[in-house]
Amino acid sequence: MLNKYGGLEENASLETYNTYGIKTQTKYLVKPYDLESLKELLLYLDDNKIPYYLLGKGSNVILPDNPFSGVIISLANLNKMEFHDHTLKVEAGAILSKVVSAAIKRNLQGLETLGSIPGTIGGALYGNASFYKDITIYDKVKEVEVIRNHELVTVPKEDIRISHRHSSFKGTKDIIVSATFVLDDGDKELMEEEVKKTREKRMATQPYEYKNAGSVFKNPENFSAGKLIDEAHLKGCHVGDAYVSEKHANFIVNKGCATSKDIKELIKIIKEKIKEKDNIELELEQQIIEWE
Ligand SMILES: Cc1cc2nc3c(=O)[nH]c(=O)nc-3n(C[C@H](O)[C@H](O)[C@H](O)COP(=O)(O)OP(=O)(O)OC[C@H]3O[C@@H](n4cnc5c(N)ncnc54)[C@H](O)[C@@H]3O)c2cc1C
Repeated sequence: MLNKYGGLEENASLETYNTYGIKTQTKYLVKPYDLESLKELLLYLDDNKIPYYLLGKGSNVILPDNPFSGVIISLANLNKMEFHDHTLKVEAGAILSKVVSAAIKRNLQGLETLGSIPGTIGGALYGNASFYKDITIYDKVKEVEVIRNHELVTVPKEDIRISHRHSSFKGTKDIIVSATFVLDDGDKELMEEEVKKTREKRMATQPYEYKNAGSVFKNPENFSAGKLIDEAHLKGCHVGDAYVSEKHANFIVNKGCATSKDIKELIKIIKEKIKEKDNIELELEQQIIEWE
């Protein structure tokens, strides 16, 4: 039945659907063919009270170890981009690096700093992604289209509240399906240089050689989470195969078969240590997901 709405896999492994590589499973994984089939799928799931969860590239989540009894929805097929002059309308499943490359190819500027964030447009809008703190994905957004209560709703930027790694889509059931950006004229070579620079900066400072989901904690006001963790001598501390990275202390890396439980236990150890040493409550940047 579910294959009516998109590509379907039963008892699917989610190992490659989360960048930590946690080996969890779902009863069903559906990739809707297009916007219409996504809308129909959501109607079907809600009518039949079937639980579902939406995943982008899984680069900001800690999935649970227990298998999901519902439907994981991936928007991988919703990845169309439409350019008109300075305007770009892009579907939520598009990968950020591809969107940035396509804009640069057309000499359009404004998204370059996001080019090395390994997520989708939908995930980036949900979490207000940014590489530099003062330049976020919302800078060039005009409006975002969501499915809300089974209706397609256009939300103008003015109606979206954002703060550091937060948008008002968090905590709602809205499904982001597309965004419209208004971009500036830019110089292709300079923009390519900017993408290269951010990528090199990442390679030099972040543990690319192991699976991870980016920064674990938000930087507390006036502090660097990585520095606090480093100063607590926690680099190399591990639970099972989940390690505090030696390269960047605000990263937890999976050095083999780390489980969700390992990662969460390590997070607890780090939080307790920093609370004890610095009296600071570290706040998670990654999202712990729970399901039945
Ligand atoms: C090596 C590395 C470096 C990183 N560097 C950065 C960085 O510099 N800056 C930064 O901001 N982040 C960074 N991240 C974190 C991550 O890549 C971003 O947060 C990214 O925007 C998450 O996108 P995603 O598609 O992977 O979302 P997912 O992790 O799949 O999902 C995150 C949340 O968004 C929700 N979601 C996803 N798509 C939609 C949608 N269409 N509609 C509604 N909700 C949706 C999911 O349900 C989930 O709750 C990094 C991650 C890694 C692994």
